[in-house]
Amino acid sequence: MRATRAVIHLDYLRDNINLVRERTRRPLCVPVKADAYGHGALPVAGAALSAGAEYLAVATVGEGEELREGGITAPVLLLSVALPEELADLAAADLEPLAGDEEYIEALERAASGAGKKLRVHLKIDTGMGRIGCRPSLARSLASRIAKSGSLTLAGTATHLAVSDSLREEDRAFTERQLDSFRGALEDIRAGGIDPGIVHAANTGAVTFHNGAWFDMVRPGILLYGYAPPDAGGKPAMAVKPLMELVSRLVFIKDVRRGETVSYGRIWTAAEDTVIGTLPLGYGDGLSRQLGNTWQVLAGGVLRPLAGRICMDQCMVDLGRDRSFSRWDEVTIFGGEAPHAGIMASLLNTIPYEITCTINKRVPRVYIQV
Ligand SMILES: *Cc1c(COP(=O)(O)O)cnc(C)c1O
Repeated sequence: MRATRAVIHLDYLRDNINLVRERTRRPLCVPVKADAYGHGALPVAGAALSAGAEYLAVATVGEGEELREGGITAPVLLLSVALPEELADLAAADLEPLAGDEEYIEALERAASGAGKKLRVHLKIDTGMGRIGCRPSLARSLASRIAKSGSLTLAGTATHLAVSDSLREEDRAFTERQLDSFRGALEDIRAGGIDPGIVHAANTGAVTFHNGAWFDMVRPGILLYGYAPPDAGGKPAMAVKPLMELVSRLVFIKDVRRGETVSYGRIWTAAEDTVIGTLPLGYGDGLSRQLGNTWQVLAGGVLRPLAGRICMDQCMVDLGRDRSFSRWDEVTIFGGEAPHAGIMASLLNTIPYEITCTINKRVPRVYIQV
């Protein structure tokens, strides 16, 4: 195996699941979309189900099929809209789509009868995310449309929250308005004599900050991967542990003299005589080029700065002169004992989701089993 690997701590996933469970006491749906936020869908799904998760969620029909081909029989939510030509595969894989309009419901109905099965559908209500779903005023009629269908079952009713991870007063108020509007729609559905099925709304922010959003099931993603939103004091609001640890090894070490430069563009110059190590990873592995001259990696138990531009396949680290390391030593880029992907994300003005998703297929995932 190559020197650069993403070590995935499935033991931490189990611990994070237990934390969420103790907190919410609700059934758990684990989003494994985008290859489980870059961690590997099948191993993560398997570990999540062993840890007691009830549901999984994916974004594409292909992702759902991958789970089925991997032998997973648990219920799988499909969070994004599938094309008409994908619906036969959706039905064959028994995925449970979110639906929020008549046309899509009709197409699902045709796919279900074509497959000769009853498809479990979740009504998606748009209470303010503005992505997919029906207006709350239409929830009752669409719920009834699904419930009365001969080939569909109303398995659940859901909404999604836009700013639940924020503690700003106006964001908290917006989330409460979303939840009020969701509760209103649920009342409407029930008043029509329809059972809304499993009611679910809570993403990471809502699991952390809005216990009124937990309903019958919670679906936090990034929290389970180990990144909690900050509390009022700026500290992580829950003690989850990041699953992903990106490691590599020093494959070349050399002395560099004061005044010499390192890497493309010569943006790094040795301020004094030092030792430079080369790591076999770069932006071709999904390590942002923005981190050149900026990020620090853990080498020989000490944080040491990257020196110069990050190349496609390699980058350099200023090891200093203390010689507390040797060739082939392991280095941690993020996670583990080093700053985690959430810290890297803040530096890059993005979110941890993007960091873990961006570490690409060239980087083998190595699993620490429970
Ligand atoms: C991705 C997603 C989630 C999980 O979101 P996190 O912010 O990772 O907790 C929950 N629900 C839906 C509909 C999603 O698309």
